[in-house]
Order: sequence, then C-alpha cells, then structure tokens
Amino acid sequence: MADHYSLDVVIPCYNEEENLPHTIPVLNDFLKKLLSREDLGLEQFRIILVDDGSADGTWSQIEAFTHDIGASGLKLSRNYGHQNAMLAGLSIADADVVLTIDSDLQDDINAISEMLKAYQTGADLALGVRRSRGEDRFFKKNTARGYYALMKLMGAQIVPDHADFRLMSQKALKALLTHEETNLFLRGIIPNLGFKSQIIEYDRQSREHGETKYTLKKMLSLAVNGVTSFSAAPLRFVAALGISVFLISMLLAFWFLMERVFVADSTVPGWASIVLPLLWLGGLQIFCMGIIGEYVGKIYLEVKRRPRFIIDEKI
Ligand code: UDP
Ligand code: MG
Repeated sequence: MADHYSLDVVIPCYNEEENLPHTIPVLNDFLKKLLSREDLGLEQFRIILVDDGSADGTWSQIEAFTHDIGASGLKLSRNYGHQNAMLAGLSIADADVVLTIDSDLQDDINAISEMLKAYQTGADLALGVRRSRGEDRFFKKNTARGYYALMKLMGAQIVPDHADFRLMSQKALKALLTHEETNLFLRGIIPNLGFKSQIIEYDRQSREHGETKYTLKKMLSLAVNGVTSFSAAPLRFVAALGISVFLISMLLAFWFLMERVFVADSTVPGWASIVLPLLWLGGLQIFCMGIIGEYVGKIYLEVKRRPRFIIDEKI
C-alpha cells in the first residue's frame, strides 16, 4: 500500500538508567539500517522516549538522546504505569506508522521489519506475539499463562501472548485515541479496533540489565483492569451465584415440607425454620448485591474522566 512513510517509535521508560545507554543506540542503529532498505519504503523515523516518573537518571539520559540521536523526550509528572506512559507517547506520535516497544528490548527488534512489511501490504495493525518465553522466569511464565486463561474465561477477546510490542497505522492510532476511558486496556482495545491486523511471531529475549519493573502489584492491577474493562462477567457471576443459592433454598424448603408431611419426624425440631430463612435471605442478598454491582459497574465505566497522564516536560 504505502511507500515512503514515516515511523514513530514510542518507548516507555521507568527507572531504566541501566538499560537505555545500551538499548537505545542498538535500536537507533537498527532503524537506520531499515531506512536503507528500499523494499520497506521507510523514509524517516523518530524515537519518542517517555519517562514514567523515574527516580533514577533516566530523564537526564533521555535529554542526552534528544541531542545525540534527535529523539523526542516526554517526562510525566509521576509514575503513571506502563500503559499510561505508552499512551502519553502515542498521544504525540504523528508519523504514518507508530511502533510501541519496551525499553529493555526483550522484544525482538528484528520483527520490526516484518511489521513494516505487514503495513505495506495493507495491515493497520501488526501485533507482536511471543512464540516462546524461554528466557522468562518460571513465575512470570505461569502467571502470564494463568492470566490469559482467566481473560478467556471472562469473555475478553485478547490475543494470547501479545503484549505491547505492536505497530499501528496513524488511522488505527486515531481510532484508539478516541477511547476516553481512564483505565484504557490497550491489549484488549487495540486488537478489537477492527482494522486489518496481522500477527507477527517472535522470540522473547531476557532482560539484560536491571530488574523487571512489573511488580506483582502492577501485574495484578493490569489483570484486574483487563477483566473489568472488558467484561461484566464477574458481576454476572455474583448475580448468578445469588439466584442459585436462592433457588436451591426454595427446593430445600419444598423438600422439608414434603418430609414433614409424608415422613415421620426425622429432623431436629426448628431446624428448617432457622436454616431455610438464612439461606433464602442470604441468596437474595447476594443476588441484590449483584444487581447493584451491575449498576455500579456501569457508572464506573461512564465516570472515568480523569486524565490518564500529565506531561511535565517535552523536548
Ligand atoms: N514501565 C513503565 N512504567 C512502569 C513500569 C514499567 O514505563 O510503571 C516500562 C519499563 O521501563 C519497560 C516496560 O514498561 O520499558 C516494560 O516493563 P518491564 O520490562 O519491567 O516488564 P516485563 O518485561 O518484565 O513484563
Ligand atoms: Mg521487560
């Protein structure tokens, strides 16, 4: 489709002073090589580095990159989290195609040329999918697996093993930015934008420097956000639970009544009159809570109007 297009690469960085001096030049050199490949039609690129409220020397390194390699730097006022940092970078990306990638280059940059090819052949989205996680730790591998299983169970349509390594056309990006939810779940929204998309498989590398910035807390919050922003299944589950308990208690009541009428006294007197209302009311209460929850969930979806990030400085 497109020849001669520009590329913006958005990179969220949080306390990455150990990684950036190594990874950014590697990426920059790689992208330069792509410029010289005529079959790709790439004309120019820009690296957008977003400092997500780092406490270390990340920002001063980003400042240096703005001089040395002509990168753009964006400093958020505090730590807003990976997803919002990415969104901040995306909000200023104005090239024909936009790529998002982590600053530790765990995602194979060689897949970028395939993504560009997908764009050339008409795809608006090229989604990087991890073919292997050989280098990830046992814990990470299994929590990730459990997470994708849970998402599937909850009815959210996400692409398994697709994280945030992806290419978007400006058209897809514009569509994405019309979503105004405060807790935007990119991995769910983007594949569901509905444009022509292509999956690009790659092997995930291990992190060379520094620790993972995704603490268990951040992982859990991403997981909960993924479920709640994509489906009302948990709320329905509560309602279904309530109504089941209620129905079962009704059946039991019927059973005890029959027993009382047709069978001689076999139970302790007073048993049914204490236990049944307990179950009955309990079931009804849970059911009502489920209904209220459904409304609260709806309101929650509507009220999210807070800014997703605040930009402190822009170079
Ligand atoms: N990151 C961020 N804000 C955060 C946490 C992480 O911008 O609050 C960035 C981080 O610098 C990296 C990317 O998000 O570029 C992915 O983080 P990480 O590599 O720690 O996650 P993992 O690869 O372990 O899932
Ligand atoms: Mg990483």
